[in-house]
Amino acid sequence: MRIAKDIYLVGGGDIRLSNRMDCHVYILDGGKEKALIDAGVGLDSHEILRNIEEDGFDPKRDIDCLLITHAHADHGGGASALRSATGAELIAPRGEAEFLENGGRDLEVGLKAAKESGIYPKNYVYKHSKVDRVVHHNAKLRVGSYLLRTIQVPGHSHGIAGFLVESEPRSFFSSDIVFINGNVGFGNWPGCNLDNYRNNIGRLKNLLVEQLFPGHFMWTLRDGQTHLDAAIQNLKGAWLPPSWTHNHPFR
Ligand SMILES: [Zn+2]
Repeated sequence: MRIAKDIYLVGGGDIRLSNRMDCHVYILDGGKEKALIDAGVGLDSHEILRNIEEDGFDPKRDIDCLLITHAHADHGGGASALRSATGAELIAPRGEAEFLENGGRDLEVGLKAAKESGIYPKNYVYKHSKVDRVVHHNAKLRVGSYLLRTIQVPGHSHGIAGFLVESEPRSFFSSDIVFINGNVGFGNWPGCNLDNYRNNIGRLKNLLVEQLFPGHFMWTLRDGQTHLDAAIQNLKGAWLPPSWTHNHPFR
C-alpha cells in the first residue's frame, strides 16, 4: 500500500500485511527503476509478491534491486525467495552479506535465542542467498531518479545499514537501527554491541531526514530527524537506552 509519494509498504508482520514475523518491506519507486527494501522472513514470500502486484507492479519486470539492511531472519530470511522471484540485484552491506550468503555461528546463535523467545518457530530454517553487490558505509546507489546513500551503523548487528534517500523529502529507511521516538534495537544476540552502537550512532547526525521508515512499528512523514536525534541522545546517557523490546509484540 502507498504510504508516501513513491513509497509503498508491501510486507509487515506488525499489521499482518504479510507473515507475522516479517519486518516492514518497502518499495521505493524511482520511475525507471524500483527497489525493495528488506525481504521479510521468507515463510510467506508469496504474500509480499501479491502485495507488490496489488500496488500495480510486476515483481519480475519492475523490481530491479533488493536492498537488504542486515541478515537477521525477519529481514534477510526472504532474500533468496524474493531474489529468484524478481530477478533483482541483491545488495547488502559489508559485515552482513557474508551471513546472508553462508550463515555462520553468530547468526545461528542469534536465531536460537530468537526461537527460545518465541520470535520464530523452532523448525524455522534460514534460507541463504547469493549477494550480487556488497556495499560499504557511504556507498552511493541509484534507484531510477533517486540517489541513495548507505549509512552503516553497526550496533544492532555486525554491519547493519540504513538507506538514505538524498532528495526532497529526504527519507531514511532505518531498519532496526532506530525506531520511532529514538528507541534502538538493542538485544541479546551475537553482533549486538553497545560500544558499536554508541560509537556509530553519530553517523545519523544532521542527515536532515523528513520521512523515517523503520524496520518495525510506526513510521513518520515529518521531522524524522528528531527521532534520529533522540536515539543519539539516548546513547549518550549511562543507562541502557530505551529499546524496541518495550513494545515488541513477541516479548
Ligand atoms: Zn534485526
